[in-house]
Amino acid sequence: MSDNRQWSREAIRIIEADFQRSADTHLIPLPLPGFAGIELYFKDESSHPTGSLKHRLARSLFLYALCNGWLKPGAPVIEASSGSTAISEAYFARMLGLPFIAVMPATTSKEKIAQIAFYGGQCHLVDDPTRIYAESERLAREHDGHFIDQFTYAERATDWRANNNIAESIFQQMRFEQHPEPSWLISSPGTGGTTATLGRYVRYRQHGTRVLCADAERSVFFDYYRTGDATLRLDHGSRIEGIGRPRVEASFLPKVIDAMVKVPDALSLAAMHYLAQRLGRHVGGSSGTNLIGALMAAQHMAQAGEKGSMVAILCDSGERYATTYYDQDWLKAQGYELSGLIDAVAATVERGEPLPASVLRANI
Ligand SMILES: *Cc1c(COP(=O)(O)O)cnc(C)c1O
Repeated sequence: MSDNRQWSREAIRIIEADFQRSADTHLIPLPLPGFAGIELYFKDESSHPTGSLKHRLARSLFLYALCNGWLKPGAPVIEASSGSTAISEAYFARMLGLPFIAVMPATTSKEKIAQIAFYGGQCHLVDDPTRIYAESERLAREHDGHFIDQFTYAERATDWRANNNIAESIFQQMRFEQHPEPSWLISSPGTGGTTATLGRYVRYRQHGTRVLCADAERSVFFDYYRTGDATLRLDHGSRIEGIGRPRVEASFLPKVIDAMVKVPDALSLAAMHYLAQRLGRHVGGSSGTNLIGALMAAQHMAQAGEKGSMVAILCDSGERYATTYYDQDWLKAQGYELSGLIDAVAATVERGEPLPASVLRANI
């Protein structure tokens, strides 16, 4: 066996051993008093060892790269990221003894940068968020490393048929609930990889479940979904970390999505604060976006007289945003005024009142 094949074999053993030491993530019910007969659950991806749903993606991307023969001992791994993926990849790179460089927008939260450094990764910050891809390619060339490229490979690195992917895990955990087959799964797009896995899985397993994708304000995905125009571009990054992209990413697959909504950032953050109150702990901004997506689906079900369940993704914890989304001074400096919107979210959850009309929708 070649030296590199031998090294890859040991690297894969190390990653599989880490998986064996890990437990599944929890499914947490969130009662909706305003919607009788409709149950909402959050799939808590913050409980992974590296704190977000990107733990699954990083594991898949490393296994994919290893099995493709793309990694070699000593050669750096480089990634373009808004932070969460880089944290999880830094963890796996360190486990394999590989140098890791994260290319990120300069606006990435300090907490995330500190965590990447904690796992031995190096951060390369760029002022223009649309430059992260080109910078990653340049660094990979210059250091004879590998650009792991989540925005291209997220959808194909994950085993969508099963292998305890996020979809299979949800359906297993729902088995003894009142409505075991969810009417809706709700996820928000960064790479689009999670949505792709959910959408493909429910089709493959012939479930009636629909997939709702909840986009951020500063993002092209929603317009791409409606128009099919893959050339859409924005010149700024998203304010909801982890989701929303300034360009259409290859790993975002619109055809496996049944409905889409686009949530104003202030409403996502209001929903995040409301969810944090209800759960008794802080969650990230994209979990707020998903709560709004779930409430849109609940309104749709209630209008149609449907009963059933929904599962939304709780993507990461709020610890990463202590000095931003959970800091009143920061919110004020950014021009956010959330208290009225938090009351509006509470009125929807608790009394079934309509959400603010500012949420855009397609196919729902
Ligand atoms: C990446 C990410 C998402 C979106 O997941 P994808 O599978 O990349 O679409 C949502 N929230 C957070 C915090 C993320 O880091």
